[in-house]
Amino acid sequence: MNNLKLTGRKPGEGRSVIEVGGIRVGEEFVVIAGPCSVETEDQTVRTAVAVKAAGAKMLRGGAFKPRTSPYAFQGLGLKGLKILDKAKRETGLPVVTEVVDTRDVSWVGEYADILQIGARNMQNFSLLREAGKSGKPILLKRGMYSTLEEWLNCAEYILAEGNDQVILCERGIRTFETYTRNTLDLSMIPAVKAESHLPIMVDPSHGTGIKFMIEPMSLAAIAAGADGLEIEVHIDPPSALSDKDQQLRPEEFAAMMKRVFELREFMAEKNGEAAKRGDLDNGKGPSGSRDVFADATD
Ligand code: PEP
Ligand code: MN
Repeated sequence: MNNLKLTGRKPGEGRSVIEVGGIRVGEEFVVIAGPCSVETEDQTVRTAVAVKAAGAKMLRGGAFKPRTSPYAFQGLGLKGLKILDKAKRETGLPVVTEVVDTRDVSWVGEYADILQIGARNMQNFSLLREAGKSGKPILLKRGMYSTLEEWLNCAEYILAEGNDQVILCERGIRTFETYTRNTLDLSMIPAVKAESHLPIMVDPSHGTGIKFMIEPMSLAAIAAGADGLEIEVHIDPPSALSDKDQQLRPEEFAAMMKRVFELREFMAEKNGEAAKRGDLDNGKGPSGSRDVFADATD
């Protein structure tokens, strides 16, 4: 891919690690979990405590919600950020929250450990530049109509401002399929790894929009090499003010996390065996396979 001066992976170059509150994204597997929207202190703190107990390493929650309808719940704004801060103080979990307006980047950054740029704003170039100037770690979600090249160029906007702390997140794209909310494009995991050094996470909550698909797609994402997951969890999904059909109850999330850790352990074991045999991916792909990085810098 052309012009990916800063995000493109050069042959032999290692993968980036983004450090957030002692957590090393890209090196350790990271699950970000929490409600779609921050609604009340009780809802957010209880969810935070539950997701931490289940093994999540960061808390998510929207205080600014980009909604399809202007009449739908738009988020609590500053009040929501203060609630997230409370949940952070109670649990120690770093906070991931979305910013939707260039004018808000600097002060939202005072509450967020990671600023999320959502699918609808992926190509908001002013917002990307401002996010770059903020110097904060950025979780950049894939636009629902965007190609890999467009997505990586958006990350490039952030890096071009001197901020190399970018994590990508695949969250599904619009296709002709209507059964799922979006079509979760897991092929982006190996694609991003071939073309870029940035970490790649997966959001199966927005990617499918259907509760029973979140666990199988999470496991598939892990098998494909994802660096982490972003999952929506709510203490009482039917009462949620946004995305109530895709939010897991804490006990459902905890059950899923058991499977997640089992698969991670299984893969670590298998990778250990492969490393001993000498055929582990060493930046050139498994032995005998095509060197994906050779043609990643066309
Ligand atoms: C979200 O994560 O809160 C969200 C709105 O996701 P997306 O931007 O991927 O739709
Ligand atoms: Mn949501």
